Amino acid sequence: MSRIDSLIAAMSLAEKLGQMTMTTAGYAVTGPVTTTDLEAGIVKGAIGNVLNLYGAEMVRAAQRLAVEQTRLKIPLLVGMDVIHGHRTIFPIPLGEAALFDPAAWEASAREAAKEAAADGVHLTFAPMLDVARDPRWGRIAEGPGEDPMLGQAIARAKVKGFQASNLGGADTLAACAKHYCAYGAVTGGRDYAETDVSQRSLREIYLPPFEAAVAAGVATIMPAFTDLDGVPMSANSALLKDYLRGKLGFDGVLISDYNAIAELIRHGVAADLAEAAALALKAGIDMDMMANAYRDGLPEALDRGLVSMADIDASVARVLKLKEQLGLFDDPYRRGGPESADVLTARRALARDVAGRSMVLLKNDGVALPMAGGRVAVIGPLADAAGEMRGCWSAAGRAEDCVSVLAGLRAALPGQEIGYAAGVAIESDDESGIAAAGALADSADTVILCLGESAAMSGEASCRAHPGLPGKQNALVEAVLAGAKGKKIIAILFSGRPLIVPEVMAAGAVLAAWAPGSEAGNALADILLGKLSPSGKTPVSWPRAVGQIPIFYNQRPSGRPANPKDHYTSYYLDEDVTPQFPFGHGLSYGDFVYADLGVSPAQAGQSDSFTAKITLINHGLREARETVFLFAHDKVAKVSRPKLELKNFGQISLKPGESGVVTLTLAAKDLMFPGLDLEPLYEPGEVEILVGPSADPGRMLSATVRLV
Ligand code: BGC
Repeated sequence: MSRIDSLIAAMSLAEKLGQMTMTTAGYAVTGPVTTTDLEAGIVKGAIGNVLNLYGAEMVRAAQRLAVEQTRLKIPLLVGMDVIHGHRTIFPIPLGEAALFDPAAWEASAREAAKEAAADGVHLTFAPMLDVARDPRWGRIAEGPGEDPMLGQAIARAKVKGFQASNLGGADTLAACAKHYCAYGAVTGGRDYAETDVSQRSLREIYLPPFEAAVAAGVATIMPAFTDLDGVPMSANSALLKDYLRGKLGFDGVLISDYNAIAELIRHGVAADLAEAAALALKAGIDMDMMANAYRDGLPEALDRGLVSMADIDASVARVLKLKEQLGLFDDPYRRGGPESADVLTARRALARDVAGRSMVLLKNDGVALPMAGGRVAVIGPLADAAGEMRGCWSAAGRAEDCVSVLAGLRAALPGQEIGYAAGVAIESDDESGIAAAGALADSADTVILCLGESAAMSGEASCRAHPGLPGKQNALVEAVLAGAKGKKIIAILFSGRPLIVPEVMAAGAVLAAWAPGSEAGNALADILLGKLSPSGKTPVSWPRAVGQIPIFYNQRPSGRPANPKDHYTSYYLDEDVTPQFPFGHGLSYGDFVYADLGVSPAQAGQSDSFTAKITLINHGLREARETVFLFAHDKVAKVSRPKLELKNFGQISLKPGESGVVTLTLAAKDLMFPGLDLEPLYEPGEVEILVGPSADPGRMLSATVRLV
């Protein structure tokens, strides 16, 4: 008998349910609080898994209870939201998405895993893979942005980074792809609201990142809080059991979201906890996070015949297998130990590099950036706000370890006097500091205006109907811009989403910095002073107005394309249809010209590939890195295809005057799409390949190939 089989044979029902239960240790509570006595629960075997526990000693102490004091000595599993770093905080995921660099995505996950593992953690609830087209939704900050192919690339890189090649390694974490699925489609951009998504959108937009995570070997998956077309994901047998487990062959652990199983009662699909627990278990969820629905509900569900012991055993076996894969049976204390100072220094350097490369230069009129010298004033509520630089879900990251913009600039410009005024608070009606900030701006040659949201204004349950500048920041912007003549005004936006800030666009330069993490100020100094050229590209379309939301580039063509001169077309009477900045937009300190697109062969069969080559020339005065996008458009198909679909991307760094060729491949099978019956369809015919710096259709070179 295997270890797992003999354990299951020896376990009482209560012990089995303990292995299927995850309880918070209380460092962070994102849902209803339970009063479980953690230590007693572990010793009794009623708690087999803990979340929000970290610190090598703390974890070791809890683990000791499990492996020394419980009857069966099954080690504890410790999970934590290591979303974008553990102690060293990297940019929020939406910011990291802007890098379009799989190696960097993997590297930051690897470092986060090492750091969290050194702190005793075994499992992270990441990557979050919810494609989102609605910046009102606060959780857009945690995810890959609006594109499914980008989401897939991030899924692969993150799973590899967290899990490395061997889950049992002392420096690896089990990853958790979440929140399966279509959570990003919440109605009105309001967290936890219903989602109603077509089967086509599910297959084309929302499922692909999860499919990629499964293919990459992700250890666990978390269903979304939400319902999908009336069936809550925590009870969605069709998508969990049939699709994930059946069709994709996922045999890892399904972990419920926080209290989500009990919430099946509020969703109106279960009458009581026993029914809720039965629905979740029957759908395939192995572990109950914070609802106590399995522990309190499954005994009764068994009595009522709603579930069988075999259902329970199957889930227990999967949980134990994960613990085995993590090496916890062999050495429950394998993770947890000090890291050397060199490792930490290298990690901070990576955080600085990634943060710098996540920033998106939205606008740079008259070469406002890089800064030219002269008197500098740093103004705004985010200028000296080290803690806010962490963004949402900052794990064990501490404010005192973060570098503010002001601190970063002062460190980079020693000896230079740098004026500072907050002007206003992030969210307050107090305008009393604006006059002084305006006066300081007037006396400077360069004004760095640090604006945006607090870390708490994005992430879970942090949705905004007015995703602009909060508080009185607009009044501050007005005051500073009023005295703008003859000076450079550089606006830096800190946010977990694209912000609709038409008033800020009057600044000479606008840089979207997202929430850059621990090294924020140093990374910003690198960009502002020209040590690093910006190279981030926005992973979401940047709207002009809330009324344009949901907004995304990969729309299907209309029978009446927008033409404001022709009334009966697809446009707004009162707003442009285009975004303020398209998906993929981002300037640099270089000036790239795209030329000579060649795609070969001219035609290909289903198992063949195309190769696109394009020449880039940097006509700018500085070295810079550029991301090049390859889109496809299937011109005539059985199902109307989006006008642009991202199929690949690549990067090149060029010195001034230098040219280089970017080569991007495209497998013919990547041009398949769900047919009329929603099964993958390969359809011979012409496909347009478009290559350019963003999804702006006006800036692309194109070639036509044929699928045979
Ligand atoms: C969130 C998850 C998170 C969990 C544990 C929930 O509220 O939706 O994303 O992993 O809490 O903290």
